[in-house]
Amino acid sequence: AKTETLYRVAQNLIEGSSLEQTLQTVVDGVAEALPANGVSLITMNPRAKKIVHFVRGGEGRDRVVAATFEELWDGLAGYAMREHESLISPEARQDEREGPQARARREATGAGAVMVAPLSYAGKVFGVLTAINQAGDAEFSRHDLILHEAMANQAAIAIENARLFEEVQRLAVTDDLTGLRNRRGFFEVARRELERATRTGRPLSALMLDIDGFKRVNDTYGHAIGDEVLRHLAERCRRAVRDIDLVGRYGGEEFAVLLPETDLKTALEVAERVRSSIGDTPFDTEVGPLPIRVSVGLALLEDDSEQTVESLLDRADTAMYLVKKEGGDAVRSAEAEFG
Ligand code: GH3
Ligand code: MG
Ligand code: MG
Repeated sequence: AKTETLYRVAQNLIEGSSLEQTLQTVVDGVAEALPANGVSLITMNPRAKKIVHFVRGGEGRDRVVAATFEELWDGLAGYAMREHESLISPEARQDEREGPQARARREATGAGAVMVAPLSYAGKVFGVLTAINQAGDAEFSRHDLILHEAMANQAAIAIENARLFEEVQRLAVTDDLTGLRNRRGFFEVARRELERATRTGRPLSALMLDIDGFKRVNDTYGHAIGDEVLRHLAERCRRAVRDIDLVGRYGGEEFAVLLPETDLKTALEVAERVRSSIGDTPFDTEVGPLPIRVSVGLALLEDDSEQTVESLLDRADTAMYLVKKEGGDAVRSAEAEFG
């Protein structure tokens, strides 16, 4: 039964099940194979003093309660995590390694033997797998501990895989220089917003920005200073718009901003605010204050719309080029009435 449980969990990992599902399989597997009355899998972030995942299983699962981070940290869980060591506690209620709060809870829930294995990967510990029997039930053996540790390792691999996957997903849509969404990331969100605006008939506007004479900044001060300017500029854009607005690095020194729920009049105000937040105050850089100006083009989603994100941005881009032709540092709209 024990080997089969391990196999089932490993299979779950290979099949690429969701993290939640895999953790539940681990917990249920441990409860069944040991057996144990209650099993919990808890991951936490010790620096933030926060519990991240809490999964429980076994017949006595209702007795397994989500304790606070502090209580866990003062108990056997914290001990196993700090010592990087799995442990068996034949009588947890009398275990000196448990804090008073944890011991009171063991008493209240009638816990007997407890077994804890830390969840760790590459030397980093991020949680515990715990098996609990009721007072008077069987104790846990060294043999049980081996299975318990193997299952904890499987869970740790699943958690680490999920974290890496998320990290890769995030990197794929993020521009490392500015931390803004890159073109792919911008489009991903913008398509959803455009679909929503079309469906609900709510307004949607977009801005395109391009730095005026940016080549000269690079040529005069070097690429590193150019990069510094791009980082500051991204920050100023972000501050000039609302949280629900989407700022993306569209290309080298071109930025796109999507303004959901924003009509033409408001979009013009926002565009002007973005322009002035950049152009009106020189950028503090390593070579001293540098004046930086941008040309801004604006377009509004039309009602009759067959429009795509691409065509919306194209229209904003065309308006932006008109600004360039007229010397830059201004806002222009693609919409005739305000053009
Ligand atoms: P214009 O007023 O017509 O926009 O002139 P410009 O000099 O800004 O011309 P353009 O937009 O064609 O030039 C883009 C420049 O931006 C060229 C390129 O070297 C620079 N650039 C693009 N990406 C980066 C980057 O990641 N870092 C730095 N430092 N420079 C970049
Ligand atoms: Mg450009
Ligand atoms: Mg430019």
